[in-house]
Amino acid sequence: MACSFYFTVLSLSYLPLLFQATVGSSDQQMVVAQSTPEDHVFKIAIFADLHFGEDAWTDWGPEQDVNSIKVMSSVLENESPDFVVYLGDVITANNIPIANASLYWDQALSPTRSRGIPWASVFGNHDDAPFEWPIEWFAAPGIPRLLCPVQNSSYSILGEECSFRGTSRLELMKNEMDNNVLSLSRTGPEGLWPGISNYVLPVLSNDKPLVHLYFLDSGGGTYPEVVSTAQADWFKHVSEEINPDGRVPELVFWHIPSKAYRKVAPKFRIHKPCVGSINKEKVAAQEAEMGIMKILVKRPSIKAVFVGHNHGLDWCCPYRKLWLCFARHTGYGGYGNWARGSRILQINDDPFSISSWIRMEDGSVHSEVILS
Ligand SMILES: [Zn+2]
Repeated sequence: MACSFYFTVLSLSYLPLLFQATVGSSDQQMVVAQSTPEDHVFKIAIFADLHFGEDAWTDWGPEQDVNSIKVMSSVLENESPDFVVYLGDVITANNIPIANASLYWDQALSPTRSRGIPWASVFGNHDDAPFEWPIEWFAAPGIPRLLCPVQNSSYSILGEECSFRGTSRLELMKNEMDNNVLSLSRTGPEGLWPGISNYVLPVLSNDKPLVHLYFLDSGGGTYPEVVSTAQADWFKHVSEEINPDGRVPELVFWHIPSKAYRKVAPKFRIHKPCVGSINKEKVAAQEAEMGIMKILVKRPSIKAVFVGHNHGLDWCCPYRKLWLCFARHTGYGGYGNWARGSRILQINDDPFSISSWIRMEDGSVHSEVILS
């Protein structure tokens, strides 16, 4: 069942609470999810690269968003996940000429919200960017009328009433959190800003830790595409604090693949030990490697990293003792016409295992892999 689990706050007593709560300092905000005792299974659907809000001035753009909602609805009906991860590029901000891009962000959340399923989101490189005027707007018959109020007899393109700067990461995340009790997303420690989506969600099963989900902001848009040294240090500090003996398995989610993905990428056909169905482009990696991968490979409790960004890749490959996985392009927005789908993760409690597969829009399933 979609809402077959509830949340508890991580405290000395693990007191169960309905929905969510946070504890600790702002440096270490935590929300805890828990599977039901009968269930012993925690299932996650990953929605990657939805790219809502493209070309709203044409019929094509809004149709893509309707199609993306159909993909998510199909996956949610077929899988009934306990949880959803929005893995970045939820919107295409550089294509959105309105001040509040949260309107589109909110549309992308709606299929999950309407089914009562909680979720967490991270940022991609397209979520926080200023509007770029399409080149055709400058061609005949000329520049369209500016749909903004005229202030003080001069256009105020950057004014508060008519902003084309885009909606900042912080605003997008605050809007999501303020308006959704099912959102477990966080704005992360202020010391890591402008990277916003940096937080951890411990998942409990029978009041015991089942898995820790880490979310990191891999940048892009208004600042470079990196997981910074500060983020790597934060990850090390928090993971050692809440999981000192590494007994709890850990999974990591961010949007842009790290350079390590290039090292394991299949050359042509996907062959063992990699598992997947499309390998249609080169890995578009982060701009620099600033330490996070070194920390991850030294922690045996880290089982896998999940990224989106490359719409033509959906494989998982082993890297040292962990797995590097792509999600599957879920949205009709963004480049590429490969069939849409969603990577599913299933974490079993007893005996412990993590498996993953890809559920397509048409209901088919492929690329099952055991990750732990
Ligand atoms: Zn991207």
